[in-house]
Amino acid sequence: MHVGTSQVLSNKLKEEIWSHKDEVDTIIGYILEGDGHHGSYKRLARITDGFGHRVSGSEALEDSIDFVMAEMEAEGFTNVHGEDFQMPNWQRGEDSCELIEPRRVKMPLLASGSSISTPLGGITAEVVVVRSFDELADLDRSETEGKIVVYNQPYEGYGTSTAYRGHGATKASEKGAVAALVRSITQFSVNSPHTGQQYYQEGVEDIPTGCITVEDAEMLWRMQESGQSMVIHLDMTSLTDGMMTTRNLVGDLEGTSFPDEYVVVGGHLDSWDVGTGAMDDGGGCAISWEAMVIIKKLGLTPKRTLRTVLWSAEEQGLLGGVAYYEQNQDLVPNVSIMMESDSGTFRPLGIGFSGSDEARAIMREILDMTSALNATQLGSEGSSPDTGDWVRAGVPGGNLINQNDDYFIFHHSEGDRMTVQDADEMDLCTALWTSVAYVVADLDELLPREDNSRK
Ligand SMILES: [Zn+2]
Repeated sequence: MHVGTSQVLSNKLKEEIWSHKDEVDTIIGYILEGDGHHGSYKRLARITDGFGHRVSGSEALEDSIDFVMAEMEAEGFTNVHGEDFQMPNWQRGEDSCELIEPRRVKMPLLASGSSISTPLGGITAEVVVVRSFDELADLDRSETEGKIVVYNQPYEGYGTSTAYRGHGATKASEKGAVAALVRSITQFSVNSPHTGQQYYQEGVEDIPTGCITVEDAEMLWRMQESGQSMVIHLDMTSLTDGMMTTRNLVGDLEGTSFPDEYVVVGGHLDSWDVGTGAMDDGGGCAISWEAMVIIKKLGLTPKRTLRTVLWSAEEQGLLGGVAYYEQNQDLVPNVSIMMESDSGTFRPLGIGFSGSDEARAIMREILDMTSALNATQLGSEGSSPDTGDWVRAGVPGGNLINQNDDYFIFHHSEGDRMTVQDADEMDLCTALWTSVAYVVADLDELLPREDNSRK
């Protein structure tokens, strides 16, 4: 059957969806005015204040996984366990960057994830500043060989500008540079560097790389423009020390009718090693875990299993998401929707959704039912970093659309702390996330897919 965009749901299905209205109102009331008030914020604070940042490879991450698992078991969830996978053991060292000429300036530096260290004693080299890969490509090799390339690329949105951190070292190395420094990827700066992963390329020599502040990148650019020659001393001891094991965390609220079918909610518990990962992605973890707790506390008994997955090693290139998919892909036919929140838990605006037109129409009804939250947008993209493989395999995907204009001001920097979070906004996120997850988990049927595939 062809399903058009003007798909009208059967009255029976609409009735079934709207039969959950009282329960949705109960969920919303419990969070906004009842005992659930500020619950996700407090839950998040226990993680961030209790463990600090949770970078993959740290004891803090493993301790926080143990903490959440113990809490989930105490809260009565089932099948609470970790799922191991291997990842490179990159450890940040003592990294410093100092402008030597034309004057001495200590410049804040954060090595980019997976960067190699400098040779013992560091690197002292002349600097060449470019504003784009095109400018780099236009330079003669003699202008870059043996030098430190500094990227002072303007911020053109995270998706575009992040290429400079991700691949700046490789592009500079191809031109014979000895190191690459990248202007932090943010639209607003208070002289604080932002880190993130970078990717070497087979066949191109690895060179050390990290992010400097917007302010310093602009200063170096101005110095170059005014004809001054610059020398930087770079000393970095960050390195990858073999492979290590970490875990994704899983916990279930077992379904009453279809326990082997799932609605998955989650976020990634790992963070970068600056700030405390409150926003990226403690918030997504907190609202997902809290959703399970609220549904259980309210005595709601969804037909299919509600599963929380807290992924690890998202920041190192979606390693946890890839591992969870590889280890669980036999569940593809059984998962009604995969929901990951990983773009902030500020004021919610709606749900991004990937799936069939009929499933989209169901989501539309659910968002209309939760309209008291003023978050009724139904976005066209429901994939998230850790759920991408599932969505590509045909599983409906959902994410949280929120008023996250300031997200990249704090992202991967010392600023990503609880102060960025707002307890009332998190309540609204939690209410939306919980309501959507509960209703989808309690429908008679899995969300319909394009090919109507069901196990
Ligand atoms: Zn994230």
